[in-house]
Amino acid sequence: MNTCIFCKIISREIPADIVYEDKNFLAFLDINPTQKGHILLMPKSHYRWVQDIPDDLTQESALLQKKIMNSLTANIGCDYILIAVEGLQVEHAHTHLIPSYFDKKNADWHHVTYDPGEIAKYASKIRSVL
Ligand code: AMP
Ligand code: ZN
Repeated sequence: MNTCIFCKIISREIPADIVYEDKNFLAFLDINPTQKGHILLMPKSHYRWVQDIPDDLTQESALLQKKIMNSLTANIGCDYILIAVEGLQVEHAHTHLIPSYFDKKNADWHHVTYDPGEIAKYASKIRSVL
């Protein structure tokens, strides 16, 4: 039985604030963001690590990542995007795309909380340009 929570998001067994979906990829808002608009981008097939993703999908992912980054910059009004790969909590390859600001350090990996209903607004804002 597949117990991977990200596979369950893909199969809609558990909910998520999805901002983009196509045949091979899904992007959704991180439930415990380090900045508002913090996105996770993952392939729909389960791979343990980002470097396990086949080359053709990696190329596709890089282009999609760029598209999402441009959307975040335009719609969240951040200064730049931090790209991070960790994968210690969830064993389904994914990349963190984190709206970032020149005057707020990311280094501490502090967390912020959405106000009620705010996560859905972020999702629809980002989704609208993808
Ligand atoms: P890591 O595996 O260390 O890259 O971290 C996994 C990330 O997934 C963390 O930032 C979590 O907040 C996030 N996360 C875990 N479960 C969910 C979920 N159900 N929906 C959205 N984000 C999640
Ligand atoms: Zn999985």
